[in-house]
Amino acid sequence: MSTPPLRQWQPDREATPRAPLPPFLTMLRRGAVNRCPVCGKGKVFNGFLTLATGCPECGTDFSHLRADDAPPYIVIFIAGHVLLPPIFWVEKAWMPPMWLHMVIWLPLFAIICTLMLRPVKGAVLGWMVRLGPVGDGAPFPEPAPPRPAGTKPDSHA
Ligand SMILES: [Zn+2]
Repeated sequence: MSTPPLRQWQPDREATPRAPLPPFLTMLRRGAVNRCPVCGKGKVFNGFLTLATGCPECGTDFSHLRADDAPPYIVIFIAGHVLLPPIFWVEKAWMPPMWLHMVIWLPLFAIICTLMLRPVKGAVLGWMVRLGPVGDGAPFPEPAPPRPAGTKPDSHA
């Protein structure tokens, strides 16, 4: 009985090599100003926060990028650290009534968060393109069919 000879792996020499990506901070800055993190020409967003499927200039695919909760988390973190010191300072200096705090700070917090969300999401997408897209875009696997009653989940005989 003879075994077939092992084949040595060969790289795909027909494929065109990818151009090197820009520096990390450049990609973050380009994403933050709604520009493609790779080429800096195409747009990242179609709407306010709706991601384009890809860059019309360089063809970079954005469809696999999912920023999820990272942009709101970063926005709340930054806005909280920017707004909390003045809130405490105003309270300590003048002790205004609570309704005045609410009338001033809550709308200000909402406005600042709304204005920051798009650039932060763009920067997060630039970060993701730099690190490599996460997720394969494939649908979630189907759930396992229900087991018949009285059977164990994993039976090793
Ligand atoms: Zn591009």
